[in-house]
Amino acid sequence: MTLRPSLVGRFNERQILRLLQSHGPLSRAEVSRISGLSAPTVSKAVGVLVSSGLLEETDVTENQRGRPANKIRLATETAQVVGVVIDREHCTVLSAGLDGRLNNGVAKVVTPQSYDEILTTLVEKCSGLIDRPEMKTLGLAVSISGLVDSRSGTAILSPNVPITNGRSPAADLQERLNIPCQVVQELHGLCLAEKMFGRAKDLNDYVLLDAEVGLGVGVMLRGKLLLGHNGMAGEFGHITIVPEGGRQCGCGNRGCIETVASDSALAWRIGQTLGRTLSIDDGIHLATAEPIRFARELAETADALALAVAATVNVFDPEAVIINTRLFDADSSLFDRVVATAKSRALGPSIAGCRIERALGTKWQGAIAAAVLNVTDAVADGM
Ligand SMILES: [Zn+2]
Repeated sequence: MTLRPSLVGRFNERQILRLLQSHGPLSRAEVSRISGLSAPTVSKAVGVLVSSGLLEETDVTENQRGRPANKIRLATETAQVVGVVIDREHCTVLSAGLDGRLNNGVAKVVTPQSYDEILTTLVEKCSGLIDRPEMKTLGLAVSISGLVDSRSGTAILSPNVPITNGRSPAADLQERLNIPCQVVQELHGLCLAEKMFGRAKDLNDYVLLDAEVGLGVGVMLRGKLLLGHNGMAGEFGHITIVPEGGRQCGCGNRGCIETVASDSALAWRIGQTLGRTLSIDDGIHLATAEPIRFARELAETADALALAVAATVNVFDPEAVIINTRLFDADSSLFDRVVATAKSRALGPSIAGCRIERALGTKWQGAIAAAVLNVTDAVADGM
């Protein structure tokens, strides 16, 4: 099943999709009233969207006089999208309606050791979700971490799953599953997840700052995800902040901001104190178990993270900066410290109107959000 390319230009249809995304099920009259579109225009556009499989009719809701009101909603019973996350430890496969609500049957498997095995496993798990005669599968998004060329869908440098480097999992899945598949960089997915499920439902200009492994920003500008020329926008972590004597970064450079301001930086600091090398999980675990013992390491990481927050505020002037880090799991009071330090470092007028929040979205929500938005075409071109 392929969606008509002309959908891209259909302003009315897109407007109605967005209304239903933000309001939930509506009657045609309500769509007309809220959108300002005439009743015949709404009727025509809804007809196209229903026949495309994006919308479905429902009469479950009663109006004020107790009569059933025929409402339209994003397809949930007749159509779905599939989200796939390829991660270091596990691969996750799940499906959801176009409203983002998860269907039953999440499959989580240990990530196989070879790329071919990953593909075979994913095809098997996806087929289990797709092979349902009553349900159209409109698209699939596969989330991978690291550098991804969004134009070609090729993974370039994945720190978590290096066997995907140089591979195009979306194209390979599309060939085998025969549904439209696209890749979404994990960071961009996390940014989209906040819009659909998390802190940014009502926002069009915000930054998702992900400090869980490296340090990256997913940037939403006027409701469109900032992808950059190659789809690699947001590699904020490789800005040099310690030009002399900085620590070696995974990118080959020294003194990058992610070497001081990320969860892996915290693990490194604690490892230095203990005289051994720690994984991120071990570092977070130790800091969570003994936050007072590792207060200095926690505070240094939080203060560096605050500089990153302040920099994103100065550069992007967002309505909100949403921070994804396990630092706050170790010591929740560090969130206030980050906010206070960021406020003292960012430009006053920019930070005055900017919310700083903890992220709520997950990687699998990112994959689902990307799949939904690919299908409904509400994000930037080229995803
Ligand atoms: Zn770097």
